[in-house]
Amino acid sequence: MQTKEVILTGLRANNDLHLGNYLGALLPIVKMQKKYAGEFQINLFVPDLHSFTTPIDHTKLYEQTMHNLKLYVASGLDLNNNDTFLYRQSFIPAHSELTVILNNFSYMGELSRMTQFKEKKTNQENVSAGLFDYPVLMAADILLYGAKYVPVGDDQTQHVELARDIGIRFNNKFGKEIFKVPEDEKTQLAFTHEQQRPRIKDLLRPEKKMSKSDASGKGVIFLGDTPEVATKKIMSSTTDSVGKINYDQKNQPGISNLIDIYSLLSGIPVSEIVDKYKAETSYNTFKTEVARNVSNFLADFQKNLNAVDQDSLNKKLAESEKAMNEVANSKLHEVQKAVGLRG
Ligand code: ATP
Ligand code: MG
Repeated sequence: MQTKEVILTGLRANNDLHLGNYLGALLPIVKMQKKYAGEFQINLFVPDLHSFTTPIDHTKLYEQTMHNLKLYVASGLDLNNNDTFLYRQSFIPAHSELTVILNNFSYMGELSRMTQFKEKKTNQENVSAGLFDYPVLMAADILLYGAKYVPVGDDQTQHVELARDIGIRFNNKFGKEIFKVPEDEKTQLAFTHEQQRPRIKDLLRPEKKMSKSDASGKGVIFLGDTPEVATKKIMSSTTDSVGKINYDQKNQPGISNLIDIYSLLSGIPVSEIVDKYKAETSYNTFKTEVARNVSNFLADFQKNLNAVDQDSLNKKLAESEKAMNEVANSKLHEVQKAVGLRG
């Protein structure tokens, strides 16, 4: 059975992933696999049940889920690593069942306070109970496997903390260590920080992060964008009237974001980039260079994506889902016993 501590992370499959997801999640996950496999068990999953907490085209969901799994592989994930489990949330029914149980130990008040809920509900006419309840499903995702570290972006840290609260509350009520809860926020942040997860901003509204559920997608570089489309998006990105290339996230968020993108893709340090363009009085040359880097990256990435072996991926999924169903069902059974559903 499970002997190593677990690192767990997932990527929602509600739309095509973007450059922010790549630099802020996919790439750090691949690096994490390289660094920690051996020492930790690594659970990577597609939270497909989380995909329609915001409206989506359901005819595309399955395909999108399978596509996202391929994106992990195209980013460099090693499918032959035995410490890594790759699975789809809905293929492990214990996630849903534990959520129904945990709902009774989660409070309306704490769920209403979740920033993601407050933000996402404002864009919708009818707010679903699914959107409201999503952090409880996330708690189930984490608690079923007793994950120690759950590396997420800052938009999700509150949910990890909630999973910890729910787990501790449950343990206290039933007087047992049924759930191994994730580390506290400070320890998580220290671990996540170590993974260097940058925050890529929207190209048109650089005060907000690049988001795959953004309605227009005009400020978002999707991993499936052609180099031409990406170039157009970069060239028409919002800048400022300063007319000088400085790394100043507060006063020049657009330019700073482009510097970040350029630096992360090319490996050239931010200070060197600023130095290189210090004599420029217009942003055009700089934008062209960023666009060139992004286009080259997309071309390489799409080549890797086309080369992903679907059979190996399917085999990995089948093996992982079998193994994780066993782990999850065993934990669920303990919970069912504690709450009185099983003798
Ligand atoms: P949505 O709008 O549907 O919430 P999203 O683009 O915010 O989509 P998520 O599925 O919420 O993406 O997050 C997936 C992972 O990608 C998380 O680890 C998250 O922190 C990371 N991520 C999301 N957006 C960015 C970004 N702009 N820059 C860096 N990392 C990001
Ligand atoms: Mg998000």
